[in-house]
Amino acid sequence: MSYNPAKKIYDLKQFGEFGGVNPSVTDSSTFTFLKGETMEETFLGHMEGCFLYSRHWNPSNKYLADALAALENTESAWVTASGMAAITCALLQVCKSGDHIVTSVTTYGGTFAFLKNWLPRYNIDVTFVDITNLEQVKAAMQPNTKVIYTESVTNPLLQVSDIPELAKMAHEHGAKLMVDNTFTPMIMTPALLGADIVVYSMTKFINGKNDCVAGAICASEEFIGELSNVNDGTAMLLGPVLDSLRSSSILKNLHTLHLRMKQHSRNAQFLAENVSEAGLKLIYPGLKNHPQHELHKKLMNDEFGFGGLLALDLKTHKKANRFMRKMQDAGVGYLAVSLGYFKTLFSCSGHSTSSEVPLEIQKQMGLSDGLVRFSVGLDDNMEEILEKIKGCL
Ligand code: PLP
Repeated sequence: MSYNPAKKIYDLKQFGEFGGVNPSVTDSSTFTFLKGETMEETFLGHMEGCFLYSRHWNPSNKYLADALAALENTESAWVTASGMAAITCALLQVCKSGDHIVTSVTTYGGTFAFLKNWLPRYNIDVTFVDITNLEQVKAAMQPNTKVIYTESVTNPLLQVSDIPELAKMAHEHGAKLMVDNTFTPMIMTPALLGADIVVYSMTKFINGKNDCVAGAICASEEFIGELSNVNDGTAMLLGPVLDSLRSSSILKNLHTLHLRMKQHSRNAQFLAENVSEAGLKLIYPGLKNHPQHELHKKLMNDEFGFGGLLALDLKTHKKANRFMRKMQDAGVGYLAVSLGYFKTLFSCSGHSTSSEVPLEIQKQMGLSDGLVRFSVGLDDNMEEILEKIKGCL
């Protein structure tokens, strides 16, 4: 695709109130009104541009939300205090008791746990499918299906979702396609490919510094309006709002996202091509042997590469632990969960960020006990890092 999300960020014209090159930071939870009537109208959702109370909207969050909507090519967006807040609020806004969700079985472990353990308590039924098998997705659809849920590139198996086909299927059934684009900001623009709602853990690449937890929901104006409705909006009533000081710091990091994504992708591609020579199973969408390599190529925005995540199968948990400890000692990066950081991070998925997934389901989905997920950093000495990794194998 020739869409350039970096230009969307570049073109933003957001200034501080005294002409500051960065928007002013709103350090207020509440806002004054000149007249009681305007306050009443704002409660009714009729006063575009008026701020009421920071759990609802505030200027700093609006700047960041507008930037994310521009990035994702959606009409609107809303920022949350975590990625999980974005996912749970968006799903609970769409679904009510008696509804049904079809989801990729391979998702971030917290999302899996919410779908598997939490939603059924409220009579929302969930069917888990192999999202790369469109026949299986189709067979799972029911008259009460309200959402197909997936990740653009899934955590941790790095399967690529066929967003256009999934969108078509969802729309034929009157459902919405919700896509978590946490692994591939800039690389993919799910809304342009047909997704109705795009969610993010901004904790990861978007912020890129591992200094906070945050999330976002990008969608139509209508949906964001529903989320922030004072009577029945999950964003308003469950209170997941992002702090405005954090919003302003994340916004500044968004302006370097294009450079960081290119470098993450370049470094991960280099490791994938060279570590795979050691004869180990390595998963990376940028390799020709990845089952959805061609699909990824078709869906991606040119220039940004195949992402910063790769997975290496050490076969057993014990070997994985030994390998990761050695890599940390050798200075490859840190043995830590999370991703999208400037340093390389690695963890054994089945025993960390996917440990919520029961063992038999891990086996069914092909998640090996020794799978080590790498979030490749921004280092400029990849030859050296490669040698260190080889030395640890
Ligand atoms: N989505 C994905 C793909 C993730 O990897 C994570 C966290 O690892 C989340 C969502 C949850 O985000 P947060 O930790 O910001 O709540």
